[in-house]
Amino acid sequence: MPIGNPSNTDSLFRDVFADVLNSNKSFVENFEHEELTGTAKEGLAIITCMDSRISPLAVVGMKPGDAKILRNAGARVTDDVLRTLVLASYLLGVKRILVMPHTDCRMANGDEADIHNEINAQYGIDTSSIEFKTVKDQKKALLEDLHKIRNFPLLNEEVVVGGAIYNVGNGKLEPLEG
Ligand SMILES: [Zn+2]
Repeated sequence: MPIGNPSNTDSLFRDVFADVLNSNKSFVENFEHEELTGTAKEGLAIITCMDSRISPLAVVGMKPGDAKILRNAGARVTDDVLRTLVLASYLLGVKRILVMPHTDCRMANGDEADIHNEINAQYGIDTSSIEFKTVKDQKKALLEDLHKIRNFPLLNEEVVVGGAIYNVGNGKLEPLEG
């Protein structure tokens, strides 16, 4: 694939993203969020996995404008999640934070070595310089992540932090006590 040829890259983009760009046309025609601001109306932030089965706003009965959504592999609380939560908790209306990993998560179905080996076997690429943050015990990892947020000194102290595991099989949220 030629890289660095703008016209080629542009036509490739239009080809590969044709459905995306097309769908956006009708989205624009029916657009109804022009009055919204960047403040989370319902004061909620959700940290969840990138898993494509999860539609975070729908899970909690909300809509655009209501909540901040942060996503990464495994719904882990990383430095960048903490950075984002600090901003959200002071400047963007966030008063409660829900950490929401899910059942059947790839990040909880194997250890670091398994995932590095799988990528290496399929693509011949050594990814061992990256920590994927896999979890052995999902509830334990969630408790650790909640602890990490609650003890982050720069987070707005008024924020309430909780965790729940989302069941991708039936849509149910299972709150984690503790
Ligand atoms: Zn996942």
